[in-house]
Amino acid sequence: MIDLHTHTNQSDGTCTPEQLINKALEIGLEALAISDHDTFAGYDQAVPLAAQAGLELICGIELSTRVDGLSSTRGRSVHLLGYFLDQGPSQQFRTWLLEIQENRRERNRDLIAKLQSLGISIGLEEVQTIGGNLTGRPHFAKILLQKGYVSSVQKAFDIYLADSAKAHVERVEPNLPDGIRRIREAGGFTSLAHPIRFGKGNLDEVDRVIMRCLAEGAPLDAIEVYHSDHGADDCQAYLALCEQHGLAVTAGSDFHGDTKPGIELGSGRNGNVSIPKRILDAMRAGLRSRL
Ligand code: AMP
Ligand code: FE
Ligand code: FE
Ligand code: ZN
Repeated sequence: MIDLHTHTNQSDGTCTPEQLINKALEIGLEALAISDHDTFAGYDQAVPLAAQAGLELICGIELSTRVDGLSSTRGRSVHLLGYFLDQGPSQQFRTWLLEIQENRRERNRDLIAKLQSLGISIGLEEVQTIGGNLTGRPHFAKILLQKGYVSSVQKAFDIYLADSAKAHVERVEPNLPDGIRRIREAGGFTSLAHPIRFGKGNLDEVDRVIMRCLAEGAPLDAIEVYHSDHGADDCQAYLALCEQHGLAVTAGSDFHGDTKPGIELGSGRNGNVSIPKRILDAMRAGLRSRL
């Protein structure tokens, strides 16, 4: 068995790269992809450890991207997975990721200023203490709650942080076709992450997104069919979409450690994912046939 969607503490997971590798070895995974949000820091740290342990480690990334005009994702970003299967990502791609990270830091600085102008006394350091490399709005919400400015995390979003709320500052995110193009140009394989985010049974919108990327010259390679948040019926539906569009299948638990309790590495929620190695073999075959 393998797992192709996992996070370390270099994004919003709680396991260090070393702990994640040890867990993978404990449960006997044959291959593990680290797919942190917007960073390779966890993967890079894991490379020598995995090599020493004889574990096949795959370089992955999960990008938050914008797609205009979607009704189902309620303004939330669409997640795109990228896998660098046979060779690492290009230097150009790594540089581009640094830009994305800088955009986030800049947004965070502006958000602090805007909150302060509304009479809220919070500092970037305290937010970063809990958010680390991937400090974002959920961490701002926690601090607002801790300091008594709001009575719940959701209120922090509703009043200050949500896209239409009074302190909102837009973060620059790539659009989906741009993300796909960047990953492909860097030698990677793309997959639409956890399509359940478009809403259960809302296959029309997933279909439209696939077609739109194709029309813009940025075809997806795969859909993440198997995921901890997908029921058996969802998996069947996404599998049919893959067949219809000639897309490959990817799969992963989306393990985050204690950030998402109830999701286990390699097996998902109560064993609802179980990923054979041939999924990875088919991804490699798909990548080679493209070249
Ligand atoms: P960021 O990447 O820093 O812009 O934060 C995005 C995260 O904030 C999302 O992944 C959600 O977890 C959370 N979020 C965004 N909008 C809302 C909202 N209206 N209500 C609750 N959580 C939200
Ligand atoms: Fe995450
Ligand atoms: Fe995701
Ligand atoms: Zn994820």
